[in-house]
Amino acid sequence: MPFKGRERGNMSFGAKSASRFAAPRDERSDGYSGGSQERSWRSERPPSRGPDQGAPSRRPFGDGAESKAVGITVESGLVGRIIGRGGSKIRELEESSGSRIKINKGEYECEVSIFGTSSAQQKAKEMIEELVSDGNSRIRNGGGGGGGGGDDRSVWSSSQVKAAEVAPARPQIDWNSIRENKDKFEELKWQDLPPLQKYFYKESSVVSMLTTDEVNEWRKENNNIFVDDLKEEGEKRQIPHPCRTFLEAFELYPEIMENIERVGFVKPTPIQSQAWPVLLSGEDLIAIAQTGTGKTLAYLMPGFIHMDGQPVSKAERGGPGMLVLTPTRELALQIEAECNKYQYKDYKSVCIYGGGDRRGQINLVKGGVDIVIATPGRLNDLQMNELINLRSITYLVLDEADRMLDMGFEPQIMKIILDIRPDRQTVMTSATWPTGVRRLAKSYLKSPMMVYVGTLDLAAVNTVEQTIVILTEEEKKAYLFDFIRNMKPDDKALIFVGKKIKADDLSSDMCLQGLAVQSLHGDREQRDREEALKDFKESRVRILVATDLASRGLDVADITHVFNFDFPRNIEEYVHRVGRTGRAGRSGAAVTLVTRENWRMAPELIHILERAGQEVPTELVLMAERYEKHKREREMFPREGRGGGRGGGRGRRDRDQNWGF
Ligand code: AMP
Repeated sequence: MPFKGRERGNMSFGAKSASRFAAPRDERSDGYSGGSQERSWRSERPPSRGPDQGAPSRRPFGDGAESKAVGITVESGLVGRIIGRGGSKIRELEESSGSRIKINKGEYECEVSIFGTSSAQQKAKEMIEELVSDGNSRIRNGGGGGGGGGDDRSVWSSSQVKAAEVAPARPQIDWNSIRENKDKFEELKWQDLPPLQKYFYKESSVVSMLTTDEVNEWRKENNNIFVDDLKEEGEKRQIPHPCRTFLEAFELYPEIMENIERVGFVKPTPIQSQAWPVLLSGEDLIAIAQTGTGKTLAYLMPGFIHMDGQPVSKAERGGPGMLVLTPTRELALQIEAECNKYQYKDYKSVCIYGGGDRRGQINLVKGGVDIVIATPGRLNDLQMNELINLRSITYLVLDEADRMLDMGFEPQIMKIILDIRPDRQTVMTSATWPTGVRRLAKSYLKSPMMVYVGTLDLAAVNTVEQTIVILTEEEKKAYLFDFIRNMKPDDKALIFVGKKIKADDLSSDMCLQGLAVQSLHGDREQRDREEALKDFKESRVRILVATDLASRGLDVADITHVFNFDFPRNIEEYVHRVGRTGRAGRSGAAVTLVTRENWRMAPELIHILERAGQEVPTELVLMAERYEKHKREREMFPREGRGGGRGGGRGRRDRDQNWGF
């Protein structure tokens, strides 16, 4: 109990405490002076104000007569709340109540004496009671503005005062013993799991017969596929040869073959040709590949086979067998569409994402599903509320891991995976391979293999005619409307902007001009976003204004034009955006508006344009040169460069570029 509220009519200090801390009232010149040699907590503070320099200025105690001192007993551990930093709180208490407060410190308890009129005493007492009652943290958080940590001349050292300011001790967690028991708990948690089967591959004889040179040559010709074994200990494993045809991969699985034939695909994409043999062999896999490379089928097909091949029946499993974690609802819905398109063994899939109908999603899960495609936030919500069983999952996919990390999903991913059996098979896809993604891979994949098909989707970009227009911010809108006026009836344009508000602004301007347009960004209701995408896909509207939410994962085959109204935040995003057109063998065009504000991007943009065999405008080259010069100068004179340059320097630029999705 922090506060005993014991009150006495008169303060009767014990002999020891009286001599240490308090001067008897009648010894004071002003009724309560700190001038004595005895050490009261406040007595040695310098005089605060008043004409009399020799003695602290004192306000007389209220208007009325002084009452006897009121005493309160407070636990020693809490007395710091009354004192405050450097005595700031006690001063404040005295000033606002009109009382004088003295503290007599004991080993376990302190006597707090309040002097003054009875109303001042009452006020101070109430304030102190409030301060020391549990849950009150006003002192610690905002108590006065005293310098850091204790008054030098206090009878308590600053460390004592600080210690006293700390909240009451909580029960200690014994981390060592928790660590020691972790393995034991893990074992207990996962005991009684049904057996798991992971190996489903039989290399076809033609694939086995390929020589190393033939394999290397084939990989080189197919987007320069790079494969590696990331196993850290022991000997490296043999990396399976790629499958050059669907039959080489799925000879044993006629139903899969039927599905592929039904949709009419000609041959596996590079990522598929290398990922399928790895995954069917039961290994964990990191696929560095972007949307549009066929990565979804690269993990879905082996996932279907994996689920079907488990020794435990669907009924015994008691929950879903495959989980795909994905950053956005749009991507989740696209993956679900792929699952349905290549329907295998009547597997049921469900999409779980924030903003969708939670109850409906829960009901679907309860009804029994095989594949869960989820965004981490909503799935974690269902998991915490025990509305979904994750123990039955044996095949886990972390799709677009870099994007999930960018969106801050790591804590939810961590919590979700805690409930998935550790001997599962895990696939991770990512467009990039930064430190965060490596860390994730190291934590959740076991001795994975890695397949990589190039950092940037240059293959797609190469089929797109890219035009760069350099102008001012004010000229952009007129340019866009001119572009729209010149669109042909069959054209379909995806217009990218940097801010959600800009998407709304431009699309409403277009509406006012009678144009059929939709907009897609993170502030729109989920239903509206789905509708916008559907309208665009089904060509009810031919113009979609979107933020970068749409640059990845958006799979609309007949986009003829990408129009970058605002330059993207980085060059990878540029490639993603441009890659939304020129798909499935079609040609496409991209128009990109560049202003002086975007000069930092000029060198990288030139690099991309050159590699894709595109024309590089002279103005862009000049811009890049100016930027390189500026960069060199900043390196040489770092101070001058910072904040002083044209446009207000970095701070302003960063503020302006609010790239919310
Ligand atoms: P993804 O990279 O998974 O987003 O796939 C992009 C698009 O490519 C999807 O519409 C797939 O259906 C399609 N696709 C997947 N595999 C192939 C393939 N082998 N040949 C042609 N298209 C494919």
